[in-house]
This record gives sequence, C-alpha cells and structure tokens, in this order.
Amino acid sequence: MKVDGICGPRTKDVIQVFQVKQFGWKYADMKVEPGKQTIARLNEIVGSSVAGPPLPTVDVEVVDTGAEEAFKRLMTEHLERARHCIRAAQFDITRALPAVDQPDGPITQFSRKKLLERLNRHFDIDRARNPRQGLERLLSVFDNMEKVFQRPGGMWGDKAFVLYKGNIHRDRVGFTSLGGFYLPGSISRQKLRQDTIYITSAFAVTIAGKQRAGAGTILHELAHFCSGPQNFGHIVDHAYGNRDQPKVLHLSPEHKMQNAECYANYAIEVGTGSAAYYLWS
Ligand SMILES: [Zn+2]
Repeated sequence: MKVDGICGPRTKDVIQVFQVKQFGWKYADMKVEPGKQTIARLNEIVGSSVAGPPLPTVDVEVVDTGAEEAFKRLMTEHLERARHCIRAAQFDITRALPAVDQPDGPITQFSRKKLLERLNRHFDIDRARNPRQGLERLLSVFDNMEKVFQRPGGMWGDKAFVLYKGNIHRDRVGFTSLGGFYLPGSISRQKLRQDTIYITSAFAVTIAGKQRAGAGTILHELAHFCSGPQNFGHIVDHAYGNRDQPKVLHLSPEHKMQNAECYANYAIEVGTGSAAYYLWS
C-alpha cells in the first residue's frame, strides 16, 4: 500500500473473482500483501492523523455515470441490510457468551456447540488463546458499528459514508481510516476525513447491483473503522475473500479476529443465512 487509509478489495481481487468464475480457484493468482507490512504501515497512518478543518480537498474529479444513483441505493437498502447483519451479529455473540466457558453437552438447539457454531466457522473461537476475551472484543466491534448508526444529530449513520470521486485508491472498492470511529474531526495526511468511510465511485455501481456485495463492503469498511483500543487495536486486511478462500480459511484465530473480511463474512451469514458475500454475490 502506497497511500493512507485502509482499503476494501482491490482491482486484483475483482480480476481474481473473474478468474475464479471462469477457471476455478486453481488458476486464480491474486497476491495478498504480508500482514506484518500492512500493520506497520497502518500504524504509521493512525499516528499521522491530525485535527483540522472538516472538509476533504477533492483532487481531480472523475465522472462515473450512475455512481450517484448507485451510492443512494447503497445508503438506503444496502445500509439497512448491513445494519440488520450487525444486529444479528450482536445477538449471536451475546447468546454465545454465557456458553463459551461451559463444557460441550449433548447436541441440541441450545448446546454450546450450536451456539458457537458460526463464530467458530468464521473466527475459530475455540482455537483462540482466550475464547471469552475474543467474543467480548468481537462484540465490542459490532457494538461500535451499531453506534455509528445511533449517533444523535445526524453526524453519522449514512453521513459517515461518502461517495469518493478523487484519485486516491481508485482501484479499491472502498477505504477508510483504521479506528476512524475514535477520530472525530481528524484529517489525514492526504487531507481526507478520518471519521469517514469512502466508497469509490468506480465500484459503486458494481456493488450496488449485487445482493450482498454492497452490505458486505459496508461491513468490511466498518470493521476497519470501528477497530480500536477497546477491542483488537487494529482490524486490517490479512486476507480477502469468502470464508472458504484458502488464505482466509488458514489464518490463525487471532488473525481472523483482526481481519476485516471475516467480519463481513460472519455478519452476512448470521444476518442473511448465506455464507458468501464477496464481490460476485
Ligand atoms: Zn479492508
């Protein structure tokens, strides 16, 4: 990553989606940056935020036909779907918390195994060093997401999102600042608001036209945005893709809990019943 902000899936991923669709996973060869470098870079970014005037300077504007209309759809139906998924996640984690320290009993609808099923599918909670602490932090992230929608005075909610027509991150679906939730009024080195999630105009039409890609992108960016000292410190991009994408599947539980895509995948599954959100769905 050359510039600041934390990003959604890149053009390469869209290419990969195409490859997968056309040729299957065997021929898809997207390369993911090593997590360590990303984290190091992101640490710099967070450290560089300064308070400043509230408006971003927009560089060269690029006209994308339909982007405004698509963004409106994202901020209505897709945002509503994302919020439904956030609440479903809060409910799922709250229900699992009392069970996490219990032994596995007989399998019933309310058995420990059942209550932790989806959290284990996406975060490998039972293999984590501290499953209870993991659940509490996951809940804190989703609680922050819900708070984005509850801010009084109309400052947040859909106002937290901006259709971005500038030149930074043109190859990304969206981008935001790590922990932007905790940075009200901050402006980045690139003169962009840090308390804002940017949806790139080049991709707005693509994701608004899919059932889950719009909500999934919103959830992915919200995970970056809502990470902070009260939960996992930083939620970054260790790997992109659906849960069963090998690079996602083989992350450690700790990395899954610090991987934005896992939040989108998990919340979409608990909220919609479908395991897949990624760009094609
Ligand atoms: Zn990301």
